[in-house]
Amino acid sequence: MQQYVSSYYAASRNLHTEYPVLQGSVETDVCVIGAGYTGLSTALFLLEHGFSVTVLEAARVGFGASGRNGGQIVNSYSRDIDVIERQLPAKQAQLLGEMAFEGGRIIRDRIARYNIQCDLKDGGVFAAFTSKQMGHLEAQQRLWERYGHTQLQLLDEHGIREVVGTERYIGGLLDRSGGHFHSLNLALGEAAAVASLGGKIHEQSAAIRIERGAHPVVHTANGQVKARFVVVAGNAYLGGLVPELAAKSMPCGSQVLATEPLSEELARSLLPQDYCVEDCNYLLDYFRLSADRRLIYGGGVVYGARDPADIEAIIRPKMLQTFPQLKDVKIDFSWTGNFLLTLSRLPQVGRLGDNIYYSQGCSGHGITYTHLAGKVLAEALRGQAERFDAFASLPHYPFPGGQLLRVPLTALGATYYQLRDRLGI
Ligand SMILES: Cc1cc2nc3c(=O)[nH]c(=O)nc-3n(C[C@H](O)[C@H](O)[C@H](O)COP(=O)(O)OP(=O)(O)OC[C@H]3O[C@@H](n4cnc5c(N)ncnc54)[C@H](O)[C@@H]3O)c2cc1C
Repeated sequence: MQQYVSSYYAASRNLHTEYPVLQGSVETDVCVIGAGYTGLSTALFLLEHGFSVTVLEAARVGFGASGRNGGQIVNSYSRDIDVIERQLPAKQAQLLGEMAFEGGRIIRDRIARYNIQCDLKDGGVFAAFTSKQMGHLEAQQRLWERYGHTQLQLLDEHGIREVVGTERYIGGLLDRSGGHFHSLNLALGEAAAVASLGGKIHEQSAAIRIERGAHPVVHTANGQVKARFVVVAGNAYLGGLVPELAAKSMPCGSQVLATEPLSEELARSLLPQDYCVEDCNYLLDYFRLSADRRLIYGGGVVYGARDPADIEAIIRPKMLQTFPQLKDVKIDFSWTGNFLLTLSRLPQVGRLGDNIYYSQGCSGHGITYTHLAGKVLAEALRGQAERFDAFASLPHYPFPGGQLLRVPLTALGATYYQLRDRLGI
């Protein structure tokens, strides 16, 4: 039985509901594989439009990235809209640009509509180390404002010190519609909403085979789901279930730690406005306060997603570089989680045949996109596929080096970008 990894989120989760293992044969309109944000958001939108839905989860609700992440609402995609504008015809690029800020609104709507207790706080900051990064943030502000997103404020050196208690940054960009929340409690609340609308969730029920055809059947160890449609939402934890998808994406690990609860004074000195922060480096650090005033600090990428032996040894020095004042603070939890990287760092979306749909690979920034993906997938299943097709038209290619060399080659590429960040070029 796969249980939650030991983390701050698992230790402080609200709901301890367990959903039954799938036994025997069931029929449903849509079988969703994976109970992370992608699967749960899809299930909710479909249920709200009258579909019957069965969600299969290999482990527990929110077992994957959705129950382990930094909890930061970051708008747009892992590669910004300017990259999409260069890749796609104007009409599709415009559609994707308009959608880039919808995921955050969906999250807030879900939390309000289903009364999900997940410590939501408003405000997120992108923090710059160099004038080159400040230039990127200025361009980002202009770009986002072109798509109607105006809740932004550039911060100069004085401004960033008012919101982050470190001397590392020279400025930043505040996104008032960013924010943060308890990751696992959002997933658990969304699962409870799925169940309240009559959706069926089965934990410890890995999909082990998809029988494709006009009437797809998803098989688990103890049962099967006959469906009109299948939605594949296993992301970095999918393994080889759908070989076509594995070739163009790579699981990667990111590591997070949570300190012991800090005194109110110390917590306020680090993040006076309680905003979340991510820096502008290629391999970025991200941090925020939890509701019980722990600093939750993440960073680092392990290409190929091997679990590091000593996470604290990787992340604590990063945290102390930002906040040396925490040198005597105890670390209560450290954990790792996997996200799915694509070569373009844009989501991998599409259909296999007429009735199997997938969305995955949001490459590190996925909290808002996955919630949007649920809406867009549900629209496509209802026969309105224009927005889904805009995502599906994003081109994807295998990583250079094939299965054997793609991990070291990608790591080498990242080292190059890391060096550029250090040199400020
Ligand atoms: C450490 C970390 C920090 C992050 N921080 C942030 C952040 O601050 N902001 C941000 O925007 N993004 C962040 N992300 C990314 C974000 O968490 C993910 O993009 C998002 O949660 C992905 O959701 P998902 O539902 O697609 O995948 P997951 O949450 O990984 O869910 C997939 C689920 O599918 C299940 N599954 C897989 N295979 C099968 C199968 N065969 N049968 C049944 N079930 C299956 C898995 O068990 C899992 O529960 C972070 C990611 C990590 C790992």
